[in-house]
Amino acid sequence: MAYRRTLRRDVGCTGIGLHTGRLTRLHLCPAPAEHGVRFRRVDVGVEIPASLENLAHLDHATTLQHQGVTVSTVEHLLAALRALGVDDVLIEIDGPEIPILDGSAAPFVILIHEAGLKPLPAVRQYLKVLEPVEVVRGGKSARLSPSDHFRVSYTIGFDHPLLRHQAIECRVAGDSFAEEIAPARTFGFLRDVELLRRAGLALGGSLDNAIVIGETGVLNNKLRFEDEFVRHKVLDAIGDLALLGHPVVGHLEAQRAGHALHAALAQKLILTPQAWTLVTHPQLPLAGGALAPTGALEPQTT
Ligand SMILES: [Zn+2]
Repeated sequence: MAYRRTLRRDVGCTGIGLHTGRLTRLHLCPAPAEHGVRFRRVDVGVEIPASLENLAHLDHATTLQHQGVTVSTVEHLLAALRALGVDDVLIEIDGPEIPILDGSAAPFVILIHEAGLKPLPAVRQYLKVLEPVEVVRGGKSARLSPSDHFRVSYTIGFDHPLLRHQAIECRVAGDSFAEEIAPARTFGFLRDVELLRRAGLALGGSLDNAIVIGETGVLNNKLRFEDEFVRHKVLDAIGDLALLGHPVVGHLEAQRAGHALHAALAQKLILTPQAWTLVTHPQLPLAGGALAPTGALEPQTT
């Protein structure tokens, strides 16, 4: 059994948004048990819970909306919080987009480590997959099936000589996430940059916060991993599945997927009640699928 966790203290940073190009100030603040992960747009005074119901759109980034107010490019921060085991946190932001920083989740991992983690007096519940659920669109697919732990098998393939095929198979836990997945950066094709800009997107994009793939190679000096592209897809998937509100215990298999398919899979899972249950221990489902009790228990010291 594990306890929910929050941050030990406030931490923050400033940076520009990938799509808006706007400079914003981000603050991660400790929160009480069962608060969940919530964004607060301090410039307009609206809170936006990080949940599937608040998904607004998924064009090139994950955007949440509540009471007509949006916050976008949330996926890398949500992935870091989820993978490092932060259940309850208030994310203050003074603009519409989370800073892209270096295009990966590594700066968020550093921030969370800087803040430290604090256990809360409530038991963490995991969302355990009991039956396979799958979404297929054209040649793309995403599937969750039962497993004793969260693991990911991801395959990408693009119509580009550099990226015809990349695949990864990994078990995602705190340390392995920080080292193997978090540093993988956002990527895009040079041929798409002009189109994105004309659509008012990628206005803050540069070689400092994205890998840009030209006709013959990457425009950046070097990659952080040979298969950095597929690792970044795993990062995006973790961030999108974080909108389920519980750590997932299951096997995610994705082929040529992206934000839209990750979210569609999460939505289909929630709408298939027999396919999942909430458990307090990943390896032991509760009899009858009843919800686990929370609260009234002392936190562990680790
Ligand atoms: Zn991403």
